[in-house]
Amino acid sequence: MHDLIIIGGGPAGITAGLYAARYKLDTVLIEKAAFAGGQLLKTSLIENFPGFDEPVNGYELAIKMEKQAVRFGLEVKKETVKKIELSEKVKKVKTENGNDYEAKTLIIATGSDPRMLGVPGEKEFYGRGVSYCGTCDAPFFKDKITAVIGGGNTAAEEALHIAKYCSKVYVIHRRDELRADKVLQEKVLAEKNIEIVWDTILKKIDFNNPEGRRIIVFNKKTNKEKKIKVDGVFIFIGLNPNTALFKGQVDLTEDGFIAQKPGEMMKTNIPGVFAAGDVRDKDLRQIVNAAGDGATAAFEANKYLAEHNV
Ligand code: NAP
Repeated sequence: MHDLIIIGGGPAGITAGLYAARYKLDTVLIEKAAFAGGQLLKTSLIENFPGFDEPVNGYELAIKMEKQAVRFGLEVKKETVKKIELSEKVKKVKTENGNDYEAKTLIIATGSDPRMLGVPGEKEFYGRGVSYCGTCDAPFFKDKITAVIGGGNTAAEEALHIAKYCSKVYVIHRRDELRADKVLQEKVLAEKNIEIVWDTILKKIDFNNPEGRRIIVFNKKTNKEKKIKVDGVFIFIGLNPNTALFKGQVDLTEDGFIAQKPGEMMKTNIPGVFAAGDVRDKDLRQIVNAAGDGATAAFEANKYLAEHNV
């Protein structure tokens, strides 16, 4: 039996693995993809991770993170988890390969994926003009025109951030009222280089157009289509947390994230089970604080093992 199983090999899981290995815990990390890194693998250039004076490639950073953790003794298994059993003291994990793992503690670091719109051009131009992270990618659109899709807190916060770089930001929202908190709404409405395009949905990202990049939008009230010249599109229509495996066992929020109380140090409702990174309920989802969550979760798992006789 292991001391700790970590599910998910993004920055949170890998950092938890690094810290657990350095605590000399017998740890196995299970990651479904061929490479660890999670959303890092989908991020071309990262400018906001400390320690790099030049933008760092997400894939390269992911490889370095995994190598570093493995160097300290972390065991990484590239397998897909099929089933978990958390009700007993011993946590049990079954993978699609038919392997069974058992441990005294478990860290959930399965992340979340940005919800996609499913419009033509979205997949094709992902990382080449289509982004799901304003904090990461806004500086690449300095003095350019962009569109933000969505009307929630994330879209509003990110639009305000993106507007610091861009000459113009269109916020394209499907209704005539933003879902974002009032305070954020007021800020967005007051920002002079943000224009809200109400009652409108994005139909196509047409970045192959020979006359220049543009999007095609549709106004639901007027039933009219319009072309808008933009250099980039940021999509913030919510997140899909990867928590299907844990439903019915671990407390989740209404949106499906792992529920945690403020100050609860990555703990879930189940003793010995922790959650770290984008999968947990929190406001800022960045590589740097995913890594911080991972370190805290490993610290708490180590403490739990010292305090409990499992
Ligand atoms: P969200 O609150 O679910 O908002 C998603 C937005 O995208 C909504 O405006 C929604 O429109 C729109 N949308 C959804 N599907 C769409 C589609 N297919 N086409 C066009 N538009 C679509 O998601 P979020 O903004 O990512 O926030 C997630 C959670 O984190 C929320 O609970 C939020 O309050 C919280 N959060 C909090 C903070 C903060 O407190 N500082 C910051 C960020 C996020 P409708 O409005 O018409 O449904």
